[in-house]
Amino acid sequence: MLYIGNHASSSKGYAAMGRQMVKNGGNTLAFFTRNPRGGKAKEIDFQDVNAFLEIMKENHFGKLVAHAPYTMNACAAKENLREFAREIMTDDMKRMEATPGNYYNFHPGSHVGQGVEVGIQKIAEILNEVLSEEQSTTVLLETMAGKGSEVGGKFEEIREIIDQVEKKEKLGVCLDTCHVWDAGYDIVNHLDEVLEEFDRVIGLSYLKAIHLNDSMNGLGSHKDRHAKIGEGEIGLEALTAVIRHPALQGIPFILETPNDDTGWTEEIALLRERYGE
Ligand code: FE
Ligand code: FE
Ligand code: ZN
Repeated sequence: MLYIGNHASSSKGYAAMGRQMVKNGGNTLAFFTRNPRGGKAKEIDFQDVNAFLEIMKENHFGKLVAHAPYTMNACAAKENLREFAREIMTDDMKRMEATPGNYYNFHPGSHVGQGVEVGIQKIAEILNEVLSEEQSTTVLLETMAGKGSEVGGKFEEIREIIDQVEKKEKLGVCLDTCHVWDAGYDIVNHLDEVLEEFDRVIGLSYLKAIHLNDSMNGLGSHKDRHAKIGEGEIGLEALTAVIRHPALQGIPFILETPNDDTGWTEEIALLRERYGE
């Protein structure tokens, strides 16, 4: 079973987002829990959410992969920015309980000159404050391209964050194919070795979701510019190998490609055909 979908727009509500994903041929999806640039979130309309949960059930959806706002920086140098991150994450954990048992992905953050060790410590500190015993959501750390002072461009950094978090059972990792490629992990020629390294450093049991993107730039470019599937430096063959890899079966694949619904519909159909469904 291939769980694939795209990063959807939640501007018309949950049910509309679910219906559109079914139209696109998807059976999972990603969405922003609030404005991607941060700020206040809309009140949750439980009737709308229940209609969405029904659509998910009828269409045998896999796990949802919600995405935190880009502006959230848990390891910012300024304390008021970290307070903002703390508040957003705490509120998002509550909101996620409307769709229980799914994933919430976030960018670990940028250490902005404080050094990667301080960054890691600050990220772990916020996770230790926010994660609760009662939550049903698993929080995913996204692997990053290592652009600027981004934390999470190396598997070791992700591992160190996990090491410093108490409630490890509430944590997972989302591997972004564009990001790891841009970070210097050669998934085109050495996918097995990259996944072995992931297993050795982090542990494959933590790998809960994949952001499936092509990249506009070369291996190790640290750029983070997503390309459409088959139109970048990673290419269709390598991305097909990712969705077919035995170690990655059953987990959700999310397209974050520069597309509209027509483009995503085509990509999902192409990847399903490549997968062999
Ligand atoms: Fe992301
Ligand atoms: Fe991503
Ligand atoms: Zn990206």
